[in-house]
Amino acid sequence: MNFHALSVDQLSSARDDLQDLYRALRDAGLSLDLTRGKPAVDQLDLSNELLSLPGGDDYRTATGADTRNYGMGDGIPELREIFAEILGVPVANLVAAGNSSLELMHDVVSFAMLHGTVDSDRPWVRDEKVTFLCPAPGYDRHFAITEDLGVEMIAVPMLPNGPDVDLCAQLVADDPTIKGLWAVPTYSNPTGITFAEDVVERLMTMPAAAPDFRVFWDNAYVVHTIVDAAPPALPVLQIADEAGHPNRPFVFGSTSKITFAGGGISFFASSTDNLDWFRSHMSKRTIGPDKVNQLRHAKFFGDADGVRAHMRKHADLLAPKFRLVLDILDDRLGDSKVASWTEPEGGYFVSLDVIDGTAAKVIELAADAGIALTAAGSTYPYKKDPYDRNIRLAPTFVEIDDLRSAMDGVATCVLLAAADALLADQNS
Ligand code: PMP
Repeated sequence: MNFHALSVDQLSSARDDLQDLYRALRDAGLSLDLTRGKPAVDQLDLSNELLSLPGGDDYRTATGADTRNYGMGDGIPELREIFAEILGVPVANLVAAGNSSLELMHDVVSFAMLHGTVDSDRPWVRDEKVTFLCPAPGYDRHFAITEDLGVEMIAVPMLPNGPDVDLCAQLVADDPTIKGLWAVPTYSNPTGITFAEDVVERLMTMPAAAPDFRVFWDNAYVVHTIVDAAPPALPVLQIADEAGHPNRPFVFGSTSKITFAGGGISFFASSTDNLDWFRSHMSKRTIGPDKVNQLRHAKFFGDADGVRAHMRKHADLLAPKFRLVLDILDDRLGDSKVASWTEPEGGYFVSLDVIDGTAAKVIELAADAGIALTAAGSTYPYKKDPYDRNIRLAPTFVEIDDLRSAMDGVATCVLLAAADALLADQNS
């Protein structure tokens, strides 16, 4: 039933029923966690062969280099080749680094703050104000980096084809303090949205008041499809170069959700000048990455098709979980018109929007019933969802039966919070 079409009496009787349902949910004593996008154990098992690679006394790259020693700061060529194809960048412009792309993002923002970029006339930190555009709902850890390093953040609405690019273009053209924009172009966190080609083009070509404006292009979910094939990664370095902004994209990639989370490889790709800048600072921070892990990964995948074939196995495990979440949302919330949600074809999340002003309440109700959801507001800069509307659902980690119980519980909480809010409205 459409909650908005109910009379006060009907709504309050629906609320009584929901309170009964909620009491039963609380009495069930659940202890379930939908907070973080972690791979499940069966997904991690897909990569167990890594535990015995490179194997024996196999430690040399294809060109005979010894991965056990220092050297090859850009990472080993065979792994760079595989991921250059995956990320749609030239091999020469790609560095394979340590175990965490988030760490690389933190490094790059820090380097820019402390030293400025190749197009800056001083370190960003010397500017009175440095601002980043933050498409929201977005990735909480991106916003945490910029908040921590003293960057001001402006939320830009995330639309079905990517960030509101008209607004981005206008803000970036007018405001020289805007030095960056966070972007997860494929199966975005948490909406699952993939940026449309024209949005990508605009972001790479739009005029910017700041000569050192950068797009932090975090393609963490570039191959993480649950349908037949992921959309190809667009050649952003080339697009930006042709538009006269060769240094605009900072591209990041990660195998954390391909092999082992936190035990994989991260990647950084950019223009030649940006890479020289990156190396000049990175070489003070480390003598080089873990190349043994890189060799292990190169042997495990073989080539880019090997990565895609491996991702099919993830998709087989993940697709039923996403289907279940969407079916429950549809079944329990479809008619009520008190929520809407994304239907991702990949990535790690479903983004749920509830009636404005009720997300924090839903999260609190769920927590009291033993279902942990990502903290209210997390998907917005400064953890402040101005509408108190968005909830990030992370269905990957829990087992399917637990996911069913958790989602059913979440639906009850959404309906109860909505009934309460609508009744309060009617009574005010
Ligand atoms: N970027 C995005 C968009 C992510 O969702 C995640 C993982 N949750 C990461 C980066 C982190 O990747 P890594 O483990 O390589 O630091």
